[in-house]
Amino acid sequence: MKRIFALLPALALSACVIVSEGQVTLSHVGESEYVVKDVLERANAAIKKIDAYWGEGFDANVRVKIENRKIRSSANYVNRFINLTRIAVQSGRPVIEHEVAHIIVGRDASNRRILNEGIAMYLEQKFHPQAELRSIDLDAKAARAMQRTGFISLQDTNEFFLDSAERLKAERFTVYREAGSFVQYLIEEHGLKQFKEVFRGFTFDSVYGKSIDEIQSEWLDAKFQLLGGRKYRTDLEKPRGDNGLYLGF
Ligand SMILES: [Zn+2]
Repeated sequence: MKRIFALLPALALSACVIVSEGQVTLSHVGESEYVVKDVLERANAAIKKIDAYWGEGFDANVRVKIENRKIRSSANYVNRFINLTRIAVQSGRPVIEHEVAHIIVGRDASNRRILNEGIAMYLEQKFHPQAELRSIDLDAKAARAMQRTGFISLQDTNEFFLDSAERLKAERFTVYREAGSFVQYLIEEHGLKQFKEVFRGFTFDSVYGKSIDEIQSEWLDAKFQLLGGRKYRTDLEKPRGDNGLYLGF
């Protein structure tokens, strides 16, 4: 049964509207009925599909807010709260699926962003509403991004995900795609169960019998042969200034 209700604070100039359906409570200001319906449906569908895949019985309510500001969309998995920008909602990109993924899988035990963002990238493409209509190839996207900025070694990616690295937008673009491709490789080559063990705090060595460096090399060899495989630079300096980046690829 659908359950929809709206609260309209009569006094406010720009009334914030709150609508609930299924596991989602959406608040927004002035979005069209079409957008509201679409976001509620997509968020509920994403929760169901990602929960079924992840397999831990997520049954909580998720609050979603559409913001008409120039910020990045975000998810707070502790409070189960998603901030979506109006631009993201209109873009057709799987931002809702990405943020729902963060809420359901939570955070890597060591808060490694390569794994947090990688699993969200993997799940957003896997459960993109148009996944069956169009080909969304994480490896191809990663390869194109690497051609622009060079390969950024997985152990060096952490800072590049941060908001504060706004001046390093191209590199941020690359590390998100590397993360998605790498997590896809881990899950599709070695299994979801093993990925979840690493995510919950077991070391790469204890789960895979290999270090993260060895798995990184295998992933590069398997997926990015055309771009040079093991010849990739892995000694990139971390962001510390405009001269701190390896750009020659
Ligand atoms: Zn994310």
